[in-house]
Amino acid sequence: MLIWGRQVMHRGLRRRIGNGENVQIHNTNWIPRPVTFKILSQPTLLEGASVSCLINEEHKWNENMIRQHFMPEDMERIMQTPLPRCPEPDELLWAYDKQGIYSVKSGYQIAFHLKFPNWPSTSNSRLTEWNVIWKLEIPAKIKIFMWRAAQNLLPTTENLWKRKIVQDPWCPRCGSKGENVFHALFACKAAQKMWKLTDFKEDLEHIANQDMLSVLQGLMERRTIREVELIVATCWAIWHSRNLFVFEKKNEDGQISVAKAEATVESYRRIKAPQQQDNPPQAAATQPSWKPPPEGWFKMNVDATIKTKDQMVGLGTAIRNHNGEFIAAAMKKSRYYGSIAAAEAEAANWGLEIAENAACIPLIIESDCQDVVNLITKKKSSKVEIFWTISEVHERLKRLNQVTCQHTPRSCNSIAHTLAGLALKVVEPTIWLETCPTHLLYLFS
Ligand SMILES: [Zn+2]
Repeated sequence: MLIWGRQVMHRGLRRRIGNGENVQIHNTNWIPRPVTFKILSQPTLLEGASVSCLINEEHKWNENMIRQHFMPEDMERIMQTPLPRCPEPDELLWAYDKQGIYSVKSGYQIAFHLKFPNWPSTSNSRLTEWNVIWKLEIPAKIKIFMWRAAQNLLPTTENLWKRKIVQDPWCPRCGSKGENVFHALFACKAAQKMWKLTDFKEDLEHIANQDMLSVLQGLMERRTIREVELIVATCWAIWHSRNLFVFEKKNEDGQISVAKAEATVESYRRIKAPQQQDNPPQAAATQPSWKPPPEGWFKMNVDATIKTKDQMVGLGTAIRNHNGEFIAAAMKKSRYYGSIAAAEAEAANWGLEIAENAACIPLIIESDCQDVVNLITKKKSSKVEIFWTISEVHERLKRLNQVTCQHTPRSCNSIAHTLAGLALKVVEPTIWLETCPTHLLYLFS
């Protein structure tokens, strides 16, 4: 009898979405629609994904995304489901009462329905397996990519051939017999070339032609979760590079693809991790984040990272306007002269050169190196070699007039830091003006 009662309760309980964080999109009652209160559409989003994925930064339903992933019937219901103005915890309510309060009468109605079951069954069996993907701390777009790959939903030529969209199933990159998901991401010569640039070469020997979920489960047994995150991001970068080749006839440098994967994972961790540790909201509040400059001003963030093994430094800089919009970004490799401050000064000097050429004046320079800021603002002086770079900076400041320099915590400097890390992987200095390259867009959103 108790089980019967719980079953009744379970059928009639529904979540009220406050922030959607603890409510799974599929397999949970949350749609205000009897009798299942569940999404009817087949999952095209990661299984186990929470409703919060469907809510945008303004705390409204993300209509484009919902349109993309749900059939019209579900979409309409989701869009009609009211959200609070600000995020609130999700609540449990009794779905068969107008006020959400349980009553014996409505409980009885459910019991009646249960006696004549018409409930569409949902399977939870694979849910725990999908958690392999869901547990990873990587951007949602990469999780969704992986989930699609594991479901064999990627439009590989073999898949398109099976659907009679293309004439033959051959691999567009190496011409071998069939391009399935495993081939595109691991077996293809083009993919192999990229894996060779990573620390995961030997993993390829352990994985045979199998589905991606099995590949991931195998990797989980041998690698740490942090490493698996990087492997998954590399798969994503390989697929991107494959698409660049197929659709735009562009050959992306393998180094760039691999660096992109690393930078994506690292910057995601830098941005998300401090907020997730020891629980929000206090922790999030103490971690300051980047702030735009006053109206009419530009802000340039600069940073340097060292790779002592190669005696090289990576320099990165990003310029944004008072709306936080992308204006310019740049990265380059340089020699390491035994002092991180010297590298930070070089980053500031080079950044200033770019800002001058891009006419980003008046300008605020932000560096997370207190020494360099003190030297540039003349709070301190130095007689060591850094002096040369600093005096170049001073000359530029004199000429440009409206430029100030200030210190910023590392948490506000993550874009420049990411670019500096990326710089270590690329051969040529790279400068982007006006248009942000798509693979860096996530940094600026
Ligand atoms: Zn191939």
